[in-house]
Amino acid sequence: MAVFKCNNCGNTIDVVTPPETCPSCKQVCEFVDVSCYIPECGGPGSGNINPQVFQESYKSDKK
Ligand SMILES: [Zn+2]
Repeated sequence: MAVFKCNNCGNTIDVVTPPETCPSCKQVCEFVDVSCYIPECGGPGSGNINPQVFQESYKSDKK
């Protein structure tokens, strides 16, 4: 499982592969893998979010 964030509404979901449409906003949106893969936030398989990746995904929205 990985944690994906909808870049449209910011909803996060725990799935293996992200769906085409977000279950929260019902839009076809880009899902960003924000899973933690480093020990600082729990490591792979923890189901945690990497806060740094999460923040950076918001920054990239504002381009
Ligand atoms: Zn959404």
